Amino acid sequence: MPKIAFRIMHIDACICIYVFSLFRSVAIIKSNKDTRYGLDSIVTHDGAKLPCLALPDLSSFRQKFGLDAYDQLDVIGIDEAQFFEDLYDFCREAADHDGKRVIVAGLDGNYLRRSFGSVLDIIPLADSVTKLTACCELCGKRAFFTLRKTEETQTELIGGADVYMPVCRQHYVSGQVVKEAAKTVLESQNVQCVSYA
Ligand SMILES: [Zn+2]
Repeated sequence: MPKIAFRIMHIDACICIYVFSLFRSVAIIKSNKDTRYGLDSIVTHDGAKLPCLALPDLSSFRQKFGLDAYDQLDVIGIDEAQFFEDLYDFCREAADHDGKRVIVAGLDGNYLRRSFGSVLDIIPLADSVTKLTACCELCGKRAFFTLRKTEETQTELIGGADVYMPVCRQHYVSGQVVKEAAKTVLESQNVQCVSYA
């Protein structure tokens, strides 16, 4: 029986390359919400491509993949796990009852540093958890957080370097301050425009 493990990781899909190279029977699932790189493959930041299934939810995976093919699977990789609402039930079922090794990559927090989707909910199910970091774009230190460059406020705003940048704690805090100051200036200008109209 295959060993069961979960791994919570940062946004990068490099883990999927890792599992793909080690196991023969691997399936990779990603959310169909993220269409930046096409829906039939995962593209790492290094440009490497891996085939995958892009789905709206995880519960449809077995049917889409094929029941026999599912039974043969050793490893299921899930990328961008924060977008799947049924993450907990799927991981528990696949690991506990179906004997799969489930490797999950996702963001633990959103740009406001609040819990993102169900990623934190599955930590009690996991054998191991690894929190990865990027490099701060402003100073090169370890980046634990994501700063949203734009003013949009919806939680699920999908984008790359045009919308987000990884930052360290110091630059997350100062970046928020700068954004707040810019917003205040803009709002006061709007008020002036209105009063002149
Ligand atoms: Zn920094």
